[in-house]
Amino acid sequence: MSAAAPPAPGRAGDWEVVVGLEVHAQVAVESKLFSDAPCAFGAAPNAQVSLVDAAMPGMLPVLNDAVIDHAVRTGLALGAEIARVSVFDRKNYFYPDLPQGYQISQYTRPIVGRGSVTLELPGGGAREVGITRIHLEQDAGKSVHDRHPAQTWVDLNRAGVPLMEIVTEPDLRSGEEAAAFLAKLRAILRAVGSCDGNMEQGSLRADANVSVRRPGAPLGVRAEIKNLNSMRFLARAVAFEAARQAAVLEDGGAVAQETRLFDPGAGETRPMRSKEDAHDYRYFPDPDLPPLRLSEERIARLAESLPELPDARAARFRAEYGLDADQARRLAGDSDRAAYFEAAARGRDARQAAHWVTGELAGALDRAGRGIGDSPVGPEALGRLLDMVAEGALSRRMAREVFDAMFATGGDPAEIAAARGLRQVTDAGAIDAEVDRVVAAHPDQAAAYRAGKAKLLGFFVGQVMKATGGKADPKAVNAALRRRLGGGAG
Ligand code: ADP
Ligand code: MG
Repeated sequence: MSAAAPPAPGRAGDWEVVVGLEVHAQVAVESKLFSDAPCAFGAAPNAQVSLVDAAMPGMLPVLNDAVIDHAVRTGLALGAEIARVSVFDRKNYFYPDLPQGYQISQYTRPIVGRGSVTLELPGGGAREVGITRIHLEQDAGKSVHDRHPAQTWVDLNRAGVPLMEIVTEPDLRSGEEAAAFLAKLRAILRAVGSCDGNMEQGSLRADANVSVRRPGAPLGVRAEIKNLNSMRFLARAVAFEAARQAAVLEDGGAVAQETRLFDPGAGETRPMRSKEDAHDYRYFPDPDLPPLRLSEERIARLAESLPELPDARAARFRAEYGLDADQARRLAGDSDRAAYFEAAARGRDARQAAHWVTGELAGALDRAGRGIGDSPVGPEALGRLLDMVAEGALSRRMAREVFDAMFATGGDPAEIAAARGLRQVTDAGAIDAEVDRVVAAHPDQAAAYRAGKAKLLGFFVGQVMKATGGKADPKAVNAALRRRLGGGAG
């Protein structure tokens, strides 16, 4: 089975791949869903546990209202129905890292209902991906197995941390599509500000439900791959799982409905447990929490508080700055990148700014492993560099050199250019003088050019550039040479 080759997108042999995601997004608030304990990342084990989180007898949950606002704003951003009344349920199961013996979640009446996201497909085109629901729930604690040879330790810092579980319809058709969807969803959550989207820290993770079927056939039996914490793992896990299931079916076997884990090292999924049915959890409404009622006024106020979302922003970038669809989407997808671009583009050639932000800058940030939010070159500094290029003071090559120095030192472009003696010669008099000198020094070539050997223009341009130490504006040199050499093949 481990020899399964990765299938083409949407296909595992003649099988259609079907994927639905359950995405857990940690809500970007300071304190837990039902207690005032903090939920900061990286605290010492059990340093952020209140009596409520530890489920001491007699403790009562108190709803963190800020979480509700984030969930409603997220629902609105996904074009989804907002439930005027939703209910918190107890999902009962025993686990050492779950001191209550149940998780408070939402089951029959979640806070957000159906919505949709437009997904630009990796292979071109777009599709509406249905959002089934968003419900709120508490995270559980963590069992730590690797600190003691004979004991399992429990860290309850995450117990009670507020999560939005965002469930999609089975509308995705490959691992790549699933990853692209998660990237898009993350961009929306970040724009809304309801989740920081940090997958390394576990703020965003996905369970992938995967099945295969013959095209047009009813849905097949699915396996659920738990806790995928990177886009790449998600794509690889789905591809592997689809190929595995196709092989099982082609061998005449049946796919088991089960929960599996992805092992990134081996690149394969392995069974974890057979799937519980919902009735095993004995859901019932939490008697400590009244139904959550949302007023029209509150929903309207939250709708008004929404910022510009990535799709709208991409459309505006196309209309306002004349960017092509791809570049507009790349810049609009991330709030920080979008803000950076707009600051650098203000009052300038926006397409040049877009070109530098998605090209030189993105490459340098990537190599340095930094986000645009802590770029050593800020948008004002990049803007000043673009101005120098626009004025002709720097050639493109010089500008790239200045940019690299700016990125390394955080310095100012004009100072760096001056310190390195980088200044493009655009002064017509100076260029003409060089052209005269070079043409006079190569009479044979000049005669040959005039007799029709057009290719020699490149030779002259090269000589003038060399004479000026590469600082002449090549366009101006070209024009001056044509003027000076006249006629010929010009
Ligand atoms: P559960 O609550 O047991 O996890 P749901 O019916 O709520 O199950 O579905 C959870 C997720 O599984 C959803 O994202 C849904 O789109 C997806 N899903 C359901 N059936 C299939 C299937 N046959 N193949 C792939 N995904 C599926
Ligand atoms: Mg599930």
